[in-house]
Amino acid sequence: MSRPTINCDLFVIGSGMAGMAAALFAAGRGINTVQAGMSSELAYASGLLDLMAVHPVRESRIWDDPWAGIDALIRDIPDHPYAHIEKADIRQALDEFMAFLNSAGLPYKADTDHNSRVITSVGTVKPTYCVPGSIWNVVRALQEKQPCLLVDFRGLKGFSARQIKEMLRENWPSLQTARFSFPSHAPELYTEHMARELEKPEICEKLAEKIFPYVEDARVVGLPAVLGITRTEEVVSNMEKFLNVPVFEIPTMPPSVPGMRLKRIFETGLPKLGVKPLLQQKVRYVKSSKSTGDLIFEVGPSDSRTTVCAKGVILASGRFFGKGLYSDRNSVYETIFNLPVHQPDTRSLWHRKDLFDTRGHLISRAGLETDEFLRPIDKSGRPAYNTLFAAGSVLAHQDWMRMKCGAGLAIATASHAVNSFLKIKSSLS
Ligand SMILES: Cc1cc2nc3c(=O)[nH]c(=O)nc-3n(C[C@H](O)[C@H](O)[C@H](O)COP(=O)(O)OP(=O)(O)OC[C@H]3O[C@@H](n4cnc5c(N)ncnc54)[C@H](O)[C@@H]3O)c2cc1C
Repeated sequence: MSRPTINCDLFVIGSGMAGMAAALFAAGRGINTVQAGMSSELAYASGLLDLMAVHPVRESRIWDDPWAGIDALIRDIPDHPYAHIEKADIRQALDEFMAFLNSAGLPYKADTDHNSRVITSVGTVKPTYCVPGSIWNVVRALQEKQPCLLVDFRGLKGFSARQIKEMLRENWPSLQTARFSFPSHAPELYTEHMARELEKPEICEKLAEKIFPYVEDARVVGLPAVLGITRTEEVVSNMEKFLNVPVFEIPTMPPSVPGMRLKRIFETGLPKLGVKPLLQQKVRYVKSSKSTGDLIFEVGPSDSRTTVCAKGVILASGRFFGKGLYSDRNSVYETIFNLPVHQPDTRSLWHRKDLFDTRGHLISRAGLETDEFLRPIDKSGRPAYNTLFAAGSVLAHQDWMRMKCGAGLAIATASHAVNSFLKIKSSLS
């Protein structure tokens, strides 16, 4: 039986933040694109889009101006992936990404010259760049220390309004809390289920009726991020009408509803832009065509395998969770092309003794080294393949979790990789 073969200009490997962004930018530039990927970090992510907030990590220095933070970062770590990208191009990529989300009904907001401060489910204050519209009201409320009612739910694990209040005692003294039973009955509460239930106007109204008597002189109400998955704007607006004050969401522990919203928007939106998805399909083998130089992949399970033949590839396969990197007892490997991975010389250097060491762990900076076009390099320092580019957390010399640059890095490098593909392709033709 012959296998289906798909010919395309660009094959994006990965359906996390970087893969989705790469597919979006490629479709926006009219590139015939196929995308494969399995589960990613997207559904676990907070939904906040960090650009650059902490550097140097050992000093936990926080940057209000992410662009100045990027300048300092590149000065100190000239191999950081941001060093390959002009700041104007990073801005452009973020603007394009936000424009897509806005047009898809998931608006994001940013003060484009400053990081904004939001609160987390453990009661810390987090600087970030782009904020979902449903969270945005907290930025001003926190800044002005507005009287605020924080709501939580009996049976919802990992989210305690009282704990948040306790942690924020000094930063935000005017917080009050109230706990409610969720209006629709379920033995255990899960955020995704709650979000879907709150899309039913009668459930939203029932909840608002419970909360309303507690609002009193609060000027804003904060809830865990459960205000809808597919119709968040509508649910937030209904809740605000019922309560007669602005509301905001606080991202919960993973899996996180704001992350699920992003995943859904991309999975439904990208095919409409012409991206051919091969989602939940693993890329198994790759070879290079001697005659055309194209890269040829075998994708999917053995009983329904697809061959993908691509002029260019963006590898957005993530780190250990995404399975772009793999480690045994001795070494870290790249899983699809077996590319060289920049990593500490010995395993004993992977982790520092103290798990919470403020400098982080060297293993977190392992990954692919590239040229200025984001082409992974081979052992001789030359591009491993002419038209193979890498984006997102698979790249070396960054520790997105500690530097607080996860989504920004994914989006900016995805955009740069797509632009590089177009440049290299035109130079080859
Ligand atoms: C709990 C959590 C909270 C976060 N919070 C924030 C936050 O507050 N702010 C922020 O900016 N960022 C946050 N992030 C990070 C951010 O959302 C991204 O997850 C991160 O930038 C990495 O994205 P990525 O696309 O590079 O990798 P991943 O999300 O790991 O995606 C890798 C993709 O490659 C695919 N893949 C790998 N190998 C193959 C193969 N052989 N065949 C097919 N597909 C393959 C995987 O299936 C997956 O789809 C958070 C992440 C997590 C986990």
